[in-house]
Amino acid sequence: MSRPHRYTVNPEFTNLEKFVWEGLNSTGRTVHQIRPGEDQAAGATPDHKRLMNRPVWHSKSELDEFVSRGLGLKLDDYGTDKSKNALYKAVANEIARLRRAGVLVDLRKVKPSKTGMGIWRLDRTRLERLVYSRAKREIKDRDYSSTGTSCVIFVRQKQNAFRNELLAEYCKRCALCGFKIPEYMIGAHIVPYSVMREEDPRNAMNPANGLLLCRFCDVAFEKGSITVGADLGITVSGYLRDRRDDVVRSWLAPIPAELRIRRDAQYPPDPRYLQWKTDLLAGAGG
Ligand SMILES: [Zn+2]
Repeated sequence: MSRPHRYTVNPEFTNLEKFVWEGLNSTGRTVHQIRPGEDQAAGATPDHKRLMNRPVWHSKSELDEFVSRGLGLKLDDYGTDKSKNALYKAVANEIARLRRAGVLVDLRKVKPSKTGMGIWRLDRTRLERLVYSRAKREIKDRDYSSTGTSCVIFVRQKQNAFRNELLAEYCKRCALCGFKIPEYMIGAHIVPYSVMREEDPRNAMNPANGLLLCRFCDVAFEKGSITVGADLGITVSGYLRDRRDDVVRSWLAPIPAELRIRRDAQYPPDPRYLQWKTDLLAGAGG
C-alpha cells in the first residue's frame, strides 16, 4: 500500500542531521548581525542585549545552501527541481524535529516584542543530549567512525560515549593503577585520536583502541613512561620507577606486570593498536 504523505529521506542525504547541526552551530549569526541596531533599541535590558549577541539562525535558504554544500550536492546540476525540493523538505523536516525536541527555540517566544518570527536560538544542552544519544547508539551498533572536523559537538559526544563504554568495561577503575573515582577517569585512546582520525577514521572511536585511565596514568601512557605491549605486558620506565617520592611510589605500587582483562570483556584492547602505539613511541623516541 502506498503512503504518499509519508516523508522519506532521500538516501543521498544520509549525513543530513550532521550538516544541519553543523550549519546551525558554526554559521549561525547573532540577532545584532541580522538586525543591526535592535540590541540598542530603547528598553533593551542587559539580558536582552546578551541574547542579541548569541548565535542564532533565521535564514532557511542559507541553511539549505550550507547543507547542500556539505553533502557535496551541486544543486544546479543535481537532477530535477523535484530533487531540490527533496533536499529542502528534508532540511525543513530536520528543523521541525529539532524544534520538537526543544533544541531549536523560537526566539520570539523568548522575547516577544523585540525580534521577529523565524529566528531560532540553539539550546546547546538539549542539542548535546540529543547528539549524545545518537553517538551512544552508533557505538553500540559498532559504528566507531568519527565525523572528524565536520561537527564539533558530534565528535565531543562520541568521545563521551566512548568514555562511558570504557567506564563500564573497566568497572570505573584505572586499567593500570586501579584508582577509582569516576570523574577522574579518562577514556584514553591507545593510538592517539589525532592519528586515528587521519589513518583509521572508521575506528577512531573504537573502544578496543581505548583504555580507562586515571589522569596520572593517562599522562604516563601518552608520554610512554608507562607502556603496554601487544602481549599486554606493562613496563614502567626508569624515569618513574627510580623516583624517591612517596606519592609516586604509592601510585605505581599497584600497577601489575600484565594488563588484566575481564573474561567477559566486550572491548579488550586490540593488540594491533597496542603494537601501533609501541611503534609510534619508538619512532618519536628516535
Ligand atoms: Zn591510574
